[in-house]
Amino acid sequence: MRIETRAVHAGRSVDPATGAVVSAIHPSTTFERDVDGGYARGHLYARNSNPNRDALEHCLADLEGGLAAAAFGSGTAATMAVFQALAPGDHVIAPHDLYSGTARFLADHMARWGLDATFVDVMRPDEVQAALRPTTRLVWIETPSNPMLRVTDIARVAAVARAAGAVSVCDNTIATPILQLPLALGADLVHHATTKYLSGHSDVMGGAIVARSVGGIFERIRKFQASGGAIPSPFDCWLVLRSIRSLPYRVRAHSDHALRVAQFLAEHDRVTAVHYPGLPHHPGYDVAARQMRGCGGVLSVEIEGGRDAAMKVAARVRLFTRATSYGGADSYIEHRASIEGAGTRTPEGLLRLSIGLEHPDDLIEDLAQALA
Ligand SMILES: *Cc1c(COP(=O)(O)O)cnc(C)c1O
Repeated sequence: MRIETRAVHAGRSVDPATGAVVSAIHPSTTFERDVDGGYARGHLYARNSNPNRDALEHCLADLEGGLAAAAFGSGTAATMAVFQALAPGDHVIAPHDLYSGTARFLADHMARWGLDATFVDVMRPDEVQAALRPTTRLVWIETPSNPMLRVTDIARVAAVARAAGAVSVCDNTIATPILQLPLALGADLVHHATTKYLSGHSDVMGGAIVARSVGGIFERIRKFQASGGAIPSPFDCWLVLRSIRSLPYRVRAHSDHALRVAQFLAEHDRVTAVHYPGLPHHPGYDVAARQMRGCGGVLSVEIEGGRDAAMKVAARVRLFTRATSYGGADSYIEHRASIEGAGTRTPEGLLRLSIGLEHPDDLIEDLAQALA
């Protein structure tokens, strides 16, 4: 079945007891044990599993073409589960251009835990190859990346990782399974901050890992989910599943609108660069055209005059909200270097835009007046 149909039906059933077409929210922390001591109905204690989380995980695995998924209380908790599934002394390869929270997490917390990390330009599979060590266990991919919208050839990098006996993980938060299917391209795990497009309304935090196969690292991630306890609430799972019903249509609109805004900005005198893989001049255009169906709703733009000029544009928008994050129905604009803090590689004149579901002409008019 097509992804629109699966987005509506996966993880759902009519409640046999009441006939309700929408599933109930199960806040129960504990579940009744059978007289023989077993748990034939599948749930024991809500940190281990609960019906709403099961339904969401089933749906995410279905959409990404995986065998199983594990949902977490935030995207970062999902990231942490992946790295904690490795052992001290293991080596990780990650991209320079990476969600800053993931980079910080690797450099600060996981370094203290004895995990070695090398940051490379994963757009160049030869750099990944050159960074391999006998202890390399994992290659992290984020494509398109944050905030430069760099594009990694998932099939090539996953093949390099596999040949070295390492697992490849693709952060698919910007693309979503509607635009890109990393498991089909050879990645072993998919990471999501469901906080973004999957929840889609800037009102739920969540994360997930989807696995191509069960066992191996996913088995450890699954155990860490239950024993580490960074789980999403039943209500949050229910909300994300509700939002996924409309995911294909939302993501296509975000993507179409972002392309229109990118085309407008690329022509503007005060703009020195537009980073959006849907524009033909973008270095990742060909790879994106091959591995994606649309380039998503996030883009970044460099304003002539650096930090002050960029800040002024952000101060003058009316429809865009000055806020971090992306994936909501409303549009955001953000001076990225200042949120990333000291040591950032992000250019000072860069603004990251999250294009919402407003009419793109209204967004373009707002940017035109802010740039005037
Ligand atoms: C937001 C984000 C994360 C972290 O997710 P949280 O839910 O904020 O913890 C990880 N990766 C990417 C690409 C993100 O955009």
